[in-house]
Amino acid sequence: MLKRYAPKVKSHKELVGLQLERLSWTLNHVYSHSDFYRRHFAAAGVSPEEFSSLDDFRRFPLTTADDFRDGYPLPFQAVSNREIVRIHASSGTTGKRKVVAYTQKDIDDWLEMFCRCYEMAGLSEEDRVQICVGYGVWTAGAGFQLACERYGAMALPTGPGNLDMQCTFLVDFSTTVLCCTSSMALLLAEEVHRRGLRDQISLRKVICGSERTSKAMRRRIVELLGLEEFYDIPGLTEVYGPGTGLNCSQSSNIHYWADYYFLEFLDPETLEPVAEGEVGEMVYTTLYKEATPLVRYRSRDLARAVPGPCPCGSIMPRHSEILGRSDDVFIIRGVNVYPSEIDSVLSGIAGLGSEYQIHLDHQEDGRDYLKLKVERQVGIVADQDGSLSGELISRIKHRLMVTPKVELLAYGELPRSERKTRRVFDRRYD
Ligand code: ZN
Repeated sequence: MLKRYAPKVKSHKELVGLQLERLSWTLNHVYSHSDFYRRHFAAAGVSPEEFSSLDDFRRFPLTTADDFRDGYPLPFQAVSNREIVRIHASSGTTGKRKVVAYTQKDIDDWLEMFCRCYEMAGLSEEDRVQICVGYGVWTAGAGFQLACERYGAMALPTGPGNLDMQCTFLVDFSTTVLCCTSSMALLLAEEVHRRGLRDQISLRKVICGSERTSKAMRRRIVELLGLEEFYDIPGLTEVYGPGTGLNCSQSSNIHYWADYYFLEFLDPETLEPVAEGEVGEMVYTTLYKEATPLVRYRSRDLARAVPGPCPCGSIMPRHSEILGRSDDVFIIRGVNVYPSEIDSVLSGIAGLGSEYQIHLDHQEDGRDYLKLKVERQVGIVADQDGSLSGELISRIKHRLMVTPKVELLAYGELPRSERKTRRVFDRRYD
């Protein structure tokens, strides 16, 4: 198939050359046009003239979500108001949202990246794409829809929720691709199953964003909807929105569009680069963004860089799935735990479902306790609870050095959500 959205750079060497050139452009652009960055660089004793290599780049100061909030509404603005054509914002309490602005060029760059995702997922003009993500000030609705139209596929902008309409559209329009959060995909998959519609739908692919998806949840969605492929589309409001990378059909690792942004993986404590392949916080610098560029922005998302070429042939570098957020990591009895570690233990036990909750409590004996509430798989009865809990306890103990309490529940007992499902309930400091 002709690749219309393939990157212009053809080798790793060309990519690095482009990144250096564009990093220099971004540093000069923000220094000349943003009071925030000029002050921020001055406080760190650096200026763009000093930049000529990646080693120099690490001397530039980091930026954080607090900078967004302290300078609300548009601390990173680096163009005049008349050049801005759109505003988006993250969810959050009023006045504390992270607000981003776009020039028309920023929108075009975003859609180009997004179309590259649709192309990597193998979509064509024949595809009918049901977009059940939030519309409004968030980036999801506009991103998925406008890119779908630009790509030439048919967009069905159903938004989240409204399972009745979702099911009707799946059948009546023979939807082939579903775009949503994985929580919404599970909710819809279960509804399709409940209504016995599996043979009347034509879904082949799901593109899920904005939420970590466990292997078990992915398996369940694929199985209930009869899918051929499941794609994970990460994205941050601060860095355009969704569409800045996608896993290829070869693995769950994500190719990220490193010709549009530069990614560092830093130790969240020491802020030094982690060794290759170690988990680090993803720190973003945009390479083309005009309206609200980011320089060394700490996303709090954790992932590993994946070294080496990918069998699919893309030269775009890869990172692992998002493993969690550095502020979601909880410490129990001195051990750092990423919620994704619990996911992967649960996903490896036949008989357990994809839905679970992690409860942390501090008890009168002064110790912290970890309790897991986990659904059984469909068709698994309570008779097997003894052996299932036994296996779960032993695997968690082996992995985390903590003995959990376990409560098994019938399939469907835990709450489902249309957006993101809350899984960690920490009551230790209440
Ligand atoms: Zn690949």
